[in-house]
Amino acid sequence: MKKLHLLLAIWLLIFYAAGSLFSAPNDEIEKKIQTLLSQMTLKEKVGQMTQITLEVVSLKRPDGSFVNSLDENKLRQAIVEYGIGSIINTGGAANTARNWLEMITIMQKMATQETRLGIPILYGIDAIHGSNYIKEATLFPQSIAMAATFNRQLSRREGEITALETRAVGIPWNFNPVLGLGRNPLWPRFWETYGEDVFLTAEMGKAYILGLQGEDGDISRADRVAACMKHYAGYSFPLSGHDRTPAWIPERLMREMFLTPFKSAVDAGVYTVMINSGEVNGVPAHSSAFLLTRVLREEWGFKGLAVSDWEDVKRLHDRDHVAASPEEAVKMAVMAGLDMSMVPFDFSFAEYLYQLVKKGEVPETRIDDAVANILRVKFQAGLFENPFPDPQRLQLIGKPEFAQVSLSAAREAITLLKNENNILPLQKDVKILVTGPTANSRAYLNGGWTYTWQGDDERYYPAHYKTILQAITEKAGQRNVVYVQGADIETQKDMGEAVQKARDVDVIVACLGEATYCETPGNINDLHLPAVQRELIHQLARTGKPIVLVLVEGRPRVINDIVPKTKGILMAYLPGPYGSEAIAEALFGEVNPSGKLPFTYPKHVNDLVCYDHTYLKEFDVNRYDPQWPFGYGLSYSEFEYRNLKLSQSRIKKGEALQISVEVENRGERAGKESVLLYVSDLYRSVTPPVKQLKGFQKIMLQPGEKRVVTFTLTADDLAFVGRDNQWIVEPGVFKVRIGDQTAQFELVE
Ligand code: BGC
Repeated sequence: MKKLHLLLAIWLLIFYAAGSLFSAPNDEIEKKIQTLLSQMTLKEKVGQMTQITLEVVSLKRPDGSFVNSLDENKLRQAIVEYGIGSIINTGGAANTARNWLEMITIMQKMATQETRLGIPILYGIDAIHGSNYIKEATLFPQSIAMAATFNRQLSRREGEITALETRAVGIPWNFNPVLGLGRNPLWPRFWETYGEDVFLTAEMGKAYILGLQGEDGDISRADRVAACMKHYAGYSFPLSGHDRTPAWIPERLMREMFLTPFKSAVDAGVYTVMINSGEVNGVPAHSSAFLLTRVLREEWGFKGLAVSDWEDVKRLHDRDHVAASPEEAVKMAVMAGLDMSMVPFDFSFAEYLYQLVKKGEVPETRIDDAVANILRVKFQAGLFENPFPDPQRLQLIGKPEFAQVSLSAAREAITLLKNENNILPLQKDVKILVTGPTANSRAYLNGGWTYTWQGDDERYYPAHYKTILQAITEKAGQRNVVYVQGADIETQKDMGEAVQKARDVDVIVACLGEATYCETPGNINDLHLPAVQRELIHQLARTGKPIVLVLVEGRPRVINDIVPKTKGILMAYLPGPYGSEAIAEALFGEVNPSGKLPFTYPKHVNDLVCYDHTYLKEFDVNRYDPQWPFGYGLSYSEFEYRNLKLSQSRIKKGEALQISVEVENRGERAGKESVLLYVSDLYRSVTPPVKQLKGFQKIMLQPGEKRVVTFTLTADDLAFVGRDNQWIVEPGVFKVRIGDQTAQFELVE
């Protein structure tokens, strides 16, 4: 007995010693937070909770536009008089790295030297596909294309490079990744997502967050930033497909699908969250204590900072009409659990909040809690030790090896959707007509959040980024390439000439798709690819010349009438600045396409069903009948799947199941293959999806090479949200699929 006590005592000692060892730095930060809080006035506290946009403190030209230079009087008013906690954004367009560094240095000097307590500013920015507001920084494919790579390592490298380049100018906070699910392709922010699948989104998002923040979460390092998962939650699924319009998501589905990638980001240690700008089930997310407090803080234990989206506290009053006055809107958001308001044009939030506390309508304990969450990130980011960027680090921005990572991602994203009679790859000596509205644009390859919000200002795009036309011409030679634009995105343009020229070539490469857009300006009312572009294909098809389509688009635009008129289709998504090279390489077979669709490509505009739908087959018309399903993508090689094996045919809760499959490259070219593991729960107490992605691995195989790929599943991977909105694991039979291989196993109590 005594021996047992002794053992217990030793064990407890080890346990607590280890615990205090690991929590020591946090304890230290918590103490510092409390000390600082105890010295702060109410005015200083509500100031910290206020975030403004750079424009408020920038100099203006006579025409009202902003200069990338600070107005020190306005800056002093914001930082010293109001004691604001955060500044964001760009003042309109990308700045040089040097300019950023100088502005951040001025802000931090003022904050640390001219305010009573010297609290540094937390500068935040949208670095959505690389550090897109720093002129010299590396741009990547947009997230929808990153998802098509099914390659976690590339997402992680994107995060690492983005962090390094962003932090080099002194910005420690990035408003990315978007963890909403892209399940409504009309939504203009579809391309900011990792597509429709819960598991893929969670995995790519987590890899990106670990890239930004590091595995150890040490964001005080000069090459790290705090991530901001957004937009929490349900924003991505508006019923109308229009941005910032109501979503209707039952709690069961909300928990099982839409919240899951956010939960996994919290588990990965994400430091901050931005709130959904819209409403779910009649409740604007910014007023939802359920989302902001119950789920996020109480259930998941999130300790980070919750920031609003643009003007969204005000919108509770003037758009949503749930608050009868702007003051009530502030109360509602703060009491729901918001820590910081992206106001962002004035100081009204701070003024209302001050009054609300004075009147006893918002308890100061809630304010202390919010300010602690803000200060915590500032401490974690090392800003109290050193808020100043180091000019030496500017030379790290835009290194050639970073561009290589972006190019690799574009290569692995591009998805071959059709290849009739092996029209692709093309021979280099064929005569080609390059046509279509996306063939000769740099902007369209990149989309929104590129140098400007809408990404549509071609003047900002460096000349060394190639258009698709340039990249094809480089490979095929000037004498083999004819270019006629043929159509604009929405309007007619020299279509007759394109048809004329088509008669003299061997093959037509038609680059179609979308112009750049971002957020609400990208709303559409029709998912069809604009009629004029489809008309171009109909007319070109009459020449009898083979047509290869290249799709440059942020969401799947319906093209069912032209698919049969084409021999080959390459989906490029928004592949970033090196996308043109990757497209040309894929066309000529220098790269073997390995992307797979991270979403369902619909065949009909009113038939928007995701792959993980429940059983529909009561009537024949209720089918999953897309143009191409989720996970679809061809290769110039052929991959054969064999010998799917399970380690057991029965597992108990708590046990792990190993699933292995042999994959062989039966083609003549080396190629990459994303091996996708799907699981189906055959019967359960709420209708099961027909299948769900539960694992993926990307492998490279030489011709004739075989590899055994292994996955591990546990009962947790088989859990779902039941009728009472709680996660449960139900015993039963499950079917596993990888490629064309299937097997079954049973989960027992
Ligand atoms: C967007 C956010 C973005 C914020 C700051 C909002 O309009 O919804 O995604 O982070 O602006 O630019």
